[in-house]
Amino acid sequence: MTAMEGDRESLMCAIVAVDHANNLCYRVCSVCERSLADTTSHCKFCDHNACNPGSSGTKRLFRILMSIASDTKVFVVVCFDRVARVLIGCSADEFFDFSKLHPFAAATAGNVLQGEMFRMTLSRPKNGNAQHLRVVSVVPLRSGFRPAILSLRELYGVRVSS
Ligand SMILES: [Zn+2]
Repeated sequence: MTAMEGDRESLMCAIVAVDHANNLCYRVCSVCERSLADTTSHCKFCDHNACNPGSSGTKRLFRILMSIASDTKVFVVVCFDRVARVLIGCSADEFFDFSKLHPFAAATAGNVLQGEMFRMTLSRPKNGNAQHLRVVSVVPLRSGFRPAILSLRELYGVRVSS
């Protein structure tokens, strides 16, 4: 079921578990996209260079660690923003705002995605420090697949109106 092509591998797999720590995302500078600590509000790289310090804002990007099962093994992969949006269905900023109102949103999103089947293309990290295979593309295999945020809005919407 797997096809190797250079350092890329395409396989069919199911999501077994999603690590929902940090609300699935991390903060970055909105200009250079370097990651920022939660306590800093400005990027020191951009603020140093800009004529008006404080002009750089922050935003969030998805970074999701998940366990996936192929037909032969279970292993951990990491999804970055572009791929994660396919699974979640909105931007990391939107998701973060949603999870401020609904503190268990990230855990619930993980539960919603558990068991879904995908065709994923994985790439071996070029940088020796990266420990996990990286997901470079993801295609849902179930025709009725819906991004997690749709199910979450429904779930929490029902709870709010009842
Ligand atoms: Zn910056």
